Amino acid sequence: MTKTPTIEQDLAKQGVSRRQFLRYCGTLAAVLALPASATEVIAQALALAPRLPVIWLEFQDCTGDTESFLRAAPRPDPAVNGKQDPSLSSLVLDVLSIDYHETLMVAAGEQAEKSRADTIQAYKGQYICVVEGAIPTAYNGYSCIIGGRTALSIAQEVTRSALMTVAFGACAWDGGLAAAAPNPTAAKGVKDAVPGLANLVNIPGCPANVVNLVATIVYYLTYQKLPALDANRRPTFAYGRTVHNQCPRRERDEAAAFGDARHRAGGCLMSLGCRGPETYHNCPTVKWNGGTCWPVEAGHGCIGCTNPAFWDNMSPFYSWVMED
Ligand code: SF4
Repeated sequence: MTKTPTIEQDLAKQGVSRRQFLRYCGTLAAVLALPASATEVIAQALALAPRLPVIWLEFQDCTGDTESFLRAAPRPDPAVNGKQDPSLSSLVLDVLSIDYHETLMVAAGEQAEKSRADTIQAYKGQYICVVEGAIPTAYNGYSCIIGGRTALSIAQEVTRSALMTVAFGACAWDGGLAAAAPNPTAAKGVKDAVPGLANLVNIPGCPANVVNLVATIVYYLTYQKLPALDANRRPTFAYGRTVHNQCPRRERDEAAAFGDARHRAGGCLMSLGCRGPETYHNCPTVKWNGGTCWPVEAGHGCIGCTNPAFWDNMSPFYSWVMED
């Protein structure tokens, strides 16, 4: 394998202190539902681990998962007033080396195609394949063509030699929006379009949360195996409990309408159609935008975006309010 700097070396170059690094590892241990003692184990593993090359494939998607990835904002440093803490999310790029990502990379056209081929060649069996978006299978796959090749043939090639494949987001998991009825392109998720992948991890959500992507990869770097997965190959640390069970609005009086006194006071959104009781995700604890908020906290009911075929099964998300 080509020699790359370790994660600790990369962080040191950026002036990240040992204390910040340990805080980062502690946050990851908490996300992974590991005991505090795992912090040191993670720190030792990351100190020696090389940055893993990533080939990020985008197919039928809205780039929402890439947006989620890019909006991993830093948080205020609790130890130094006014200073930004690099935190878990903003260190994502230090855990990963994004060698191919059509939306983010500078290269285009043949240069970009070459970059993908070079990464497969140089890191055979050592890179992570992240898939964002669904894979169309109707019309011989010609609904999504990149560089003259179908999404399906690219997915087959890249996943075949990957150390791990992560289906990131609802569309990569089970087809998501592209597969919603009537699904004109016969869109599928990775698990159905490229069946039989031994190292497939599904991280659904619309969008998926980058914290869970990083935690999955860090778990692999630390323990040299995938984290525990459920029957849908979703990490149990992230999809083992319902949103409802972790919700701060639980057991508060139910709001009857958006904007009423109970809604404004943090009341439960069950009567407004919240799907939290039937949705498994750690949204309430990892949150979004640098850990500042999540939809239910902001006053909107959960729409169940980590559930199978949620665009068909969870909708309609809204209904008309009849005036008296
Ligand atoms: S707002 Fe939703 S998730 Fe929270 S307690 Fe009520 S029903 Fe459960």
